[in-house]
Order: sequence, then structure tokens, then C-alpha cells
Amino acid sequence: MSLPSTDTVVGYPDGDVVSTGTVVHVEPLPDGRAAVILDRTAFHPVDPVWPDQPADTGSIAVDGASRPVVDAVVGATDGTVLHVGDAPVRTGTEGWTFVVCHLVDDATGLEPGTPVTVTVDADQRHALSAGHTACHLASLALNEALAGLWTKEVAVDGRGNPNFDQLAITSSRILPFGSVDEYRIGKSLRKKGFAAAELAGRIAEVQAAANARLAAWVAAGAEVPVAIVRDGDGLGERRRWRADLPDGVVEIPCGGTHLRSLAELDGIAVALDLAEAEGALALTMRTTATPA
Ligand SMILES: [Zn+2]
Repeated sequence: MSLPSTDTVVGYPDGDVVSTGTVVHVEPLPDGRAAVILDRTAFHPVDPVWPDQPADTGSIAVDGASRPVVDAVVGATDGTVLHVGDAPVRTGTEGWTFVVCHLVDDATGLEPGTPVTVTVDADQRHALSAGHTACHLASLALNEALAGLWTKEVAVDGRGNPNFDQLAITSSRILPFGSVDEYRIGKSLRKKGFAAAELAGRIAEVQAAANARLAAWVAAGAEVPVAIVRDGDGLGERRRWRADLPDGVVEIPCGGTHLRSLAELDGIAVALDLAEAEGALALTMRTTATPA
């Protein structure tokens, strides 16, 4: 059985939750499960390189008989071996093929060439899309709220504020209707001009400023369309989240799923927590999105 040589065509960036496709490869896994690869899918896989948004849950059906997809991960191949969820390269790297691996307990009946229908749990997808959308907006609001603490010029975000989020983030986890972002403020960030010593005394003020900005954006609601811009429909193509905020259009590189408009939310709020961690400061931002 030959390995896939073209990227899986993915529909989830456009919000698809159902797709029809054809099995192109089935990879048996050491644990007895199998990775099923289709020519196209609506299923969002977790990307092990930056595992912010969890995989969709749902099922794969042949002739109306459906079985659960127990997990979905990004797979990568350079033509010699298929790496299932443990690719040695970033998704999108030249010379590699990137595929959505639908993990199933039993791949009986899923031979290459079989037409299948994939169905994603739409409620869970919606909750994660809300969480991911709120996460991006929270990062922009945080950047603005921290702008006064920078004493040197650094890279800026799409709104022209010093990009604290990009410079300090160590992990991001998307949850149903929320997210948790972890930032590390150490020597290198201080060298870049971040006034770390002042942060503790101003954390309440920073949180209030971020929340005021988020409330204003949510209040603009339907006037804030959100979309994914992409160069192509393959899994390995670069994608960017774009929001038409009242003060301008912003774009953030992102491979996840999102809402279509802020009218789908009643509120977004962040809670900031600052702690000492191994000679550095650890800032945790917990974001909550309230559905409309
Ligand atoms: Zn995103």
C-alpha cells in the first residue's frame, strides 16, 4: 500500500462538520488501532507540534454503518514512512505531505477506495470554535493592555501593539468556551524592554483594561465578521484567522476552528494570574466566552 502523496483537503477551516470522501490509506498502529486517511475531511486533528485545539470528536460511516473516530491527529510523510501524531517537522514544511489521521479501533471495511461520510460532533466543535475565537481576541486585548510596560521597540501585532502574546507565550490550550494561555516573563523578555518588575503592581489594571476592550468588541457583535483566509485547501497550507475589528482588520496565523461573527457571543472575559517560577514570572490568562 503506497503512502499518501497529497495533503488531505480540509473543510473545517470553513466551518464544515460533515464531509464525504474516499479512503486513500489505512495505517495499522502498534496499539491495534488504525489511522484512516481520506482524500478530504471535515475533521479537525490535533497538531502535536502546537497542540492548542483538541481534536474533533465524531464518527466515520460506510454505507450508513458508522463507527466512532477515537482520536484525530496530524500525520506527515516524506514518502518513506508515515508519522502518525509524531511528525519530526512543522506542519506545512516543504517536501512533506500532511494528512488528517482518523484513529479507529477497527478499520474493517475501510479499504482504500471506499467512499465514506465523516460527521463531527457539532456542539463540541462550536464550543471549541468559541473558545479559539475568544483566545485570539484575548491575546490582542492583552497586548494592548500591556503596551505601556514596554520601554523598547519590539515586533507588533496586527493592531500595532507590542506583541507580548507572541514573544512570551509558552503554551495555549483551547477549551469549550474558553482557553488557558501560559506566558513566561524571563531575562530575555526583560532584555527586550518589558518592565517585568512593574507588572505585579499593575496586574489588576491590566486585567480591567483587557476586559474593557473585549466587552467593546463583543458589543460590536455582528459588525465583527471573522473568517479564515487560506492559500489553498490542503492541510499543510498556511491559514490565517482574520477579524474585522472596529479599529481595523487583524490577522493571526492559525490552524484551528472559529466562530463566524462575534454576534455568537454574549461576552468574553479574562482572568490574569501572576506567579514566580524558576527565576522568572509566569503569567496565566484564563479566557471565558459566554455564548449568546
Ligand atoms: Zn485560531
